[in-house]
Amino acid sequence: MTSPRSSSSSVRPAVHEVRLIGATAYAILEDEITVIDAGMHGSLPRLHAAITALGRSPADIARFIVTHGHPDHAGGAGGAPILMHPADRDRALHLNAGTIVRRFALRRLPPTTDLRDGEVLPVLGGLHVVHTPGHTPGSVCLYAARDGLLFSGDALWRDAGGSLHRPNRYWSEDLTSARASVRRLAELDIGTILFGHLPRLERAGAALRELVARWS
Ligand SMILES: [Zn+2]
Ligand SMILES: [Zn+2]
Repeated sequence: MTSPRSSSSSVRPAVHEVRLIGATAYAILEDEITVIDAGMHGSLPRLHAAITALGRSPADIARFIVTHGHPDHAGGAGGAPILMHPADRDRALHLNAGTIVRRFALRRLPPTTDLRDGEVLPVLGGLHVVHTPGHTPGSVCLYAARDGLLFSGDALWRDAGGSLHRPNRYWSEDLTSARASVRRLAELDIGTILFGHLPRLERAGAALRELVARWS
């Protein structure tokens, strides 16, 4: 019997980047395990293998936090409560969102628990939910103030040279909202951005302020 391939790398002692199908997830190993984003449907065996390789039990997964309703972030979640902003959950249920959401049928997503802007989750000393509409109406970023980490999902994009950019215009629904969201993020004390698809970005606070200045 072959076990699913797993690969992970550590961002902070408790925070592990795990490559899943279609996107990167972040497994936060505390007494409880929290997973931010879940890859495409079918990713769960890889996630479980990575957590097992890190010496923990997948049974300790207490929650999935899904940054937005796209299938490469939400599709793989299962077996634990799924937290998500209602603006994306409702769209998924009504199947009136973009083509890819319809195509990959979020109909199979189990019931979700609503995330609210300003909510603080008991993760990494207090994980703040920041509603950042733009890429999708229900996009959220998760801000760990103690560690200066921002889990951005697809709300931001970076290039190979390390410059920060607005979210991809072809896959994002409302760039006016996205700009307002980036302005909010620039007010936080962020050291590192952890993206859904791209390598992490350090010195992120300065990069965010520079993006705000450039994006007028
Ligand atoms: Zn997306
Ligand atoms: Zn994505």
